[in-house]
Amino acid sequence: MKAVAADKIEESTNSSRKRFSTRKFRFWMQIVGSAITVWIGVEFIRFVNYLESGTAGASVTRPPGVESFLPISGMISLRDWVLTGTLNTIHPSAMVILLVAVAVGFLFKKGFCSWVCPFGFISEMIGNIGDSVVGRWFKDKRLKLPKLLDYPLRSLKYLLLLFFVWAVFWSMSPEMIREFITSPYNKVADVKMLKFFTEIDSFGLWTIITLFGLSIILRGFWCRYLCPYGALLGMLSLLGPGKIKRDAGACIDCGKCAKACPSFIKVDKIKTVVSDECTGCLDCVDACPVEGALELKVVGRKKRIPKRVWAYAIVFTFWGALLLFKLTGPWENSISNQEYIYHMERMDGPEYGHPGR
Ligand code: SF4
Ligand code: SF4
Repeated sequence: MKAVAADKIEESTNSSRKRFSTRKFRFWMQIVGSAITVWIGVEFIRFVNYLESGTAGASVTRPPGVESFLPISGMISLRDWVLTGTLNTIHPSAMVILLVAVAVGFLFKKGFCSWVCPFGFISEMIGNIGDSVVGRWFKDKRLKLPKLLDYPLRSLKYLLLLFFVWAVFWSMSPEMIREFITSPYNKVADVKMLKFFTEIDSFGLWTIITLFGLSIILRGFWCRYLCPYGALLGMLSLLGPGKIKRDAGACIDCGKCAKACPSFIKVDKIKTVVSDECTGCLDCVDACPVEGALELKVVGRKKRIPKRVWAYAIVFTFWGALLLFKLTGPWENSISNQEYIYHMERMDGPEYGHPGR
């Protein structure tokens, strides 16, 4: 570590104590995002139960936010929208949520992953458990795969993304897109997705258990290696305007930023963080004890972006945009309860399989 005047570090440390803590704020925002997701899940279960009971008892409405779990349907709707100029009303919020997440990914790196996504939050929590368990055996505390394995595995999520993009934007003709959107499969895709979890088979269960176990040993296993949504946002984030910059002159080489980084980025060794794995969480900036050594800046500008501004901007952009669409734009689907019941009663039939299979 560089020799630095003790009073300078103390001064920086004192002022950092007064600084806005993005870690704490982010944690609470992740709790909010997860709570909203749980609420949506519970409401959707109540809605399906209500329909299965033949609409007995008090009426339950379907939460449109459940379509955040239908990104493929959202991509297909996007293609259809581009082709026809009209937005289908089967699962409109699937496309809206996808577009808002993409916009956040471009503006705020993979901010969606670290500030909103409940899977990102669960992944982080499991990673924290893993750190304390694995840390008992390993001095370094965090286990990371060697580059020889890490790089090929990281490409898996891009291959998955490539497959979905190819399937939706190249292999499907406009007629096939239309056929998919209006297919019985798509209409009850939300119920099918719920049944996958509530009536999970042993293969599905073992897949989840395996992912859980791997995420304990290797922090962020799902996000780092397999999530195609994260791959898309990671690519966009490289084009975005916000960059984390280290001032080598002010830096005291303490390594706290790299240690705090959940994505294993060697922040203490580089001038500018340029990585598709950077989630814009700002844990590195939060951990830095020297004022001005590590800051968030807009490309080509010297002025720093205060952490507080970045944090509020991510949260307000994502939730504000969704609220705006909910109040004014395409949000609710057009499938009536009767139509849902009709499809749900036949859902196990062959005509409810994936179109084109
Ligand atoms: S480099 Fe900083 S902002 Fe990016 S993931 Fe690591 S800790 Fe978060
Ligand atoms: S930039 Fe990283 S290594 Fe440099 S002082 Fe800040 S935390 Fe320490």
